[in-house]
Amino acid sequence: MTDSIAAVAAAAPEFGSTEPRRRARALVAVADALTAAADDLIPPAMAETGLPEGRLRGELKRTTVQLKLFADVAAAGAFLDVRLDAADPDFVLGPRPDLRRYLVPLGPVLNFAASNFPFAFSVAGGDTASALAAGCPVLVKAHPGHPRLSDLTASIVRGALAEAGMPADALGLIHGQDEGVAALKDERIAAASFTGSLRAGRALFDIAAARPKPIPFYGELGSTNPVVVTAAALAERSPQIAAGFAASVTGSAGQLCTKPGLLFVPAGADFATDGFGGVGPQRLLHPGITEGFTRRREQVLGTAGVAVLCEGSISGDAAEPTLVETDLATLLGHRDTLADEAFGPLSVIVRYDPAMPLAPAIAELVEGSLTAGVHIGSGEDSPWLREVLGVLGDRAGRLLFNGWPTGVAVTPAMQHGGPWPATTNPTTTSVGTAAIGRFLRPVTYQDCPAALLPPPLRDDNPWHVPQTRSAAGESATWGSLA
Ligand code: NAP
Repeated sequence: MTDSIAAVAAAAPEFGSTEPRRRARALVAVADALTAAADDLIPPAMAETGLPEGRLRGELKRTTVQLKLFADVAAAGAFLDVRLDAADPDFVLGPRPDLRRYLVPLGPVLNFAASNFPFAFSVAGGDTASALAAGCPVLVKAHPGHPRLSDLTASIVRGALAEAGMPADALGLIHGQDEGVAALKDERIAAASFTGSLRAGRALFDIAAARPKPIPFYGELGSTNPVVVTAAALAERSPQIAAGFAASVTGSAGQLCTKPGLLFVPAGADFATDGFGGVGPQRLLHPGITEGFTRRREQVLGTAGVAVLCEGSISGDAAEPTLVETDLATLLGHRDTLADEAFGPLSVIVRYDPAMPLAPAIAELVEGSLTAGVHIGSGEDSPWLREVLGVLGDRAGRLLFNGWPTGVAVTPAMQHGGPWPATTNPTTTSVGTAAIGRFLRPVTYQDCPAALLPPPLRDDNPWHVPQTRSAAGESATWGSLA
């Protein structure tokens, strides 16, 4: 393990100082190598996770597309956020020096892989892709739910990096809880990323903060993803909304951080839930998840005032979906058992009185969430709705209209994060191009001789990266744009 940390640490100077365009080519090579190895990767992925082939092939494609997206982010160079302020003897506050600022890689990143996305949030997933694009080598702590797949993926990534002229040690892999904790405490690790449970995420976040030299810890934890359906939406398309809800809750056996866990539906309105009955048993990812889901399901089913719409079941390592219904007063009285995440195929329908304000109850019930959503009628607008949107927007990283939160597009404007406990850091994202910013820090060069400037800060701009210039004399007109 010490060797693995030493290896990624040794790779950091060379990897972090390479022209981003070269790292971009290496990321494309990694994506191509993973695509070429699909038939070797899918069987162990299926055996270890129980996820179906179609889902895993789709996830592998998503993973390679993500690597290519970050390749383009690196190649374009805008992520370096280069700002050049010319020296200015006439600066309004007294002479200004020559200032040149850009972002540099933090150094080796420790990435705790997730169980539920063995490709897209694992060894070669989004955290790894964004860190490599930033110029940070990555040490992955494999998830014990798919160890063989993790080893195979790592060897493919390392081979592709080396063939592309990068140090193979820009990616390392370790197994085991103790090894993960020891790596997090190691002073050579400069930042960490994590996707998993609130309990483990909090414990690791505290370790990162308690180090003699604390480091940033980007944890993606639990999320309930509330969705509000208005009476007007139900009147227009109740069957479609019901079918979409069932598919979103039961897909991947509900083991998605964006699964809608609370659905607010007007009291008395027809809402068919038979879509839950025909799903059948689906394997859960690993015994820890089965155990956690069993506990949460029993808590929900055992709460007074909860009506069972679809009981579902858990047998061995397989679960059939569970759906319950309650009212707002019961939910407010049993917040801890009903409104916390249940990671698996379970959701709670909450009946509300559409003649009463809903926003204050949501404000009391719902904590930070990765997503929140509304289903509204065409052209619907009202103070009631705007108040609900205001509260949901305060709590979620992504606000959806007439859609379902599962299925996170890998694209520049995606936000996959949110206030605590959705994440440990609400200012960033783990999906989408902004994720690269987690692994960079700014540095300004003041009055640096031209010959000593790093390439992105040079006037001849050898890496051809975007440079934002602030010319001498501009301060005289500051305020004129207002
Ligand atoms: P987990 O139990 O949080 O484990 C995630 C990682 O943290 C694993 O590598 C695990 O390693 C490590 N870990 C766990 N407890 C630790 C501790 N006390 N100290 C140090 N490291 C620790 O997540 P999981 O196994 O994927 O699933 C369990 C629960 O996580 C689910 O029921 C669900 O609530 C949540 N989850 C959330 C998301 C999300 O996207 N937000 C995704 C998946 C799961 P070891 O197993 O080797 O200890």
